[in-house]
Amino acid sequence: MNGHPTRDGWFSAGQVPCDPVPPPREHPYRVVLLGPPGVGKGTQAMLLGQTLRACHLSTGDLFRAASCGSELSPSMRAAIAATQRGELVCEELVIDLVRERAGCLRCHGGFLLDGFPRNVTQAQALDELLAELNVTLDAVLYFELPQEEIVARLAGRRTCSRCPAVYHLAARPPATAGVCDGCGGELTQRADDRPDVIRVRMQAYDESTRPLIDFYRRDGRLVSVAATGTPEQIRDRAMRLLDRRVGASQAVAQSV
Ligand code: AMP
Repeated sequence: MNGHPTRDGWFSAGQVPCDPVPPPREHPYRVVLLGPPGVGKGTQAMLLGQTLRACHLSTGDLFRAASCGSELSPSMRAAIAATQRGELVCEELVIDLVRERAGCLRCHGGFLLDGFPRNVTQAQALDELLAELNVTLDAVLYFELPQEEIVARLAGRRTCSRCPAVYHLAARPPATAGVCDGCGGELTQRADDRPDVIRVRMQAYDESTRPLIDFYRRDGRLVSVAATGTPEQIRDRAMRLLDRRVGASQAVAQSV
């Protein structure tokens, strides 16, 4: 690995520490990543995570990891079946999963929360949890892209079966077809990137997640980022906006 935390704390609900444990940062960035499926949140989480040394906390990754396990509880089995249909997993289970991982939200490396919250109820639950933990959410990065580009991105997406790396057949191909550049793992297409499932996920996004944009815009936490260009250009654009936003609010906090 490149010194980036393994996310073991996230996957094991804090039973196993990350390796290496993220070093303390004077101002850890705590950020929610928002945007439609396929806009590139996972790739941005990886790139921003490398820049900020903050952990990529993805609820979707929890379900994908659990789906490889053998001893699943009935509620986790139902959750995985919902992910395979492109539907949202039931509220209580997702909120419980995040609550069990509260240690990751307090991590002194900060966090990049991806896939949670996905609706207003989850956003309110996150605000309550962060208030209990005495942790402030610095910003919500909202990645914007036209729908036709999103569908093209999803169809070409390939993910590593061993590590969090994400590729695209056209925009970000691996050096060797089907093999992860970083760890040599096999690259596969996610079951929920099939066209019929993509349609269901887009519908779930429009109905449940889109209202979150207004929720965060109303209280000034939303930072919109155009998700066009190369992944690195998008990362640099996001970093500039984030530094401006977080820098400004930290300056206010220090002057109070
Ligand atoms: P993602 O990788 O974020 O696209 O998540 C993959 C799938 O996991 C989603 O299509 C949902 O079925 C499920 N999922 C992930 N996060 C959540 C959440 N916060 N609430 C409900 N379902 C979720």
